Amino acid sequence: MIHGAGDIRIETVPDATIKDATDALVKVTSACICGSDLWPYKSMEASEHGNRIGHEFIGLVEAVGGEVTKIKIGDLVVAPFGYSDGTCEFCHEGLQTSCVHGGWWATGDVDGGQGEAVRVPWADGTLVPLPVGEDDALMPSLLTLSDVMGTGHHAALVARVAPGKRVAVVGDGAVGLCGVIAAKRLGAEQIIILGRHPQRTSLAQEFGATDVVAERGDEAVERVRELTDGSGVHSVLECVGLGESIETAIKIARPGGAVGRVGVPQDAAIPGSRQAFRSNVSVGGGPAPVRAYIEELMPDVLEGRIEPGRVFDRTIALDAVPDGYRAMNDREAIKVLIDF
Ligand SMILES: [Zn+2]
Repeated sequence: MIHGAGDIRIETVPDATIKDATDALVKVTSACICGSDLWPYKSMEASEHGNRIGHEFIGLVEAVGGEVTKIKIGDLVVAPFGYSDGTCEFCHEGLQTSCVHGGWWATGDVDGGQGEAVRVPWADGTLVPLPVGEDDALMPSLLTLSDVMGTGHHAALVARVAPGKRVAVVGDGAVGLCGVIAAKRLGAEQIIILGRHPQRTSLAQEFGATDVVAERGDEAVERVRELTDGSGVHSVLECVGLGESIETAIKIARPGGAVGRVGVPQDAAIPGSRQAFRSNVSVGGGPAPVRAYIEELMPDVLEGRIEPGRVFDRTIALDAVPDGYRAMNDREAIKVLIDF
């Protein structure tokens, strides 16, 4: 539970149970803390009752409602960071984050993902069974399919990454690092990571980044231009969401290029939009429909072609979650895995 900025507590909540015939009850086996969980951790006003929190988890199906046909008791499943019915027009178009019956974990009466059990609405549309056991060594990488790997992939698709393209990734958090993996996987020739934490940027290089830019603002823009024969990159993955990072992303795109935004924007307006217009730079993005990407990315994880689970640099038990938030917020840890 989160009760306010810096105030994460472990509490006993009512047991998750099946409420609707389309629900599944999932006993969580692993979960994690997300960079986006840090926004309320930094800024939430103190609340008397607190809110559930967490939206990335893998678990075992313990029960299903009468209308659930695809998901079975005993399945090990990964959940995307939102639930969706799998049947509406947006789900059919692969945009499950706009599902007409969809929603988000830890809102209303829906359980959070950082807990021992979760009632999963629309189980058949939401959950994806995993073809491995819960102790499989690939579990950290499979867990990234719930959010950060799919989100990095979405940024790369929106930014139109393709073979031979020059790419820049703004942000060296777990999503940015997965964006590097996604860009490499889609055939990018040059991948520039913008970040200033050596441990993170060196992991980015292991994932396929060809250049590191530690500068910020106009100096970063200058440096990217130098690295790209003066013209900028075709594709920018914006994985932060702050005004300065969005403006930098637009400024380092070459004319006709594209910016894929997946960092949750912290401001209402898009800075740099005049420059984007002048240079015909497309700016798009939003919450990644990771449910659409799980089946596509999973074979690459299972066959070891990508290792996004390397973004986890700390594993903790449930009672250490408050300290896990602190460690991520202090940038002591890139991403924290919770092992139940
Ligand atoms: Zn839907």
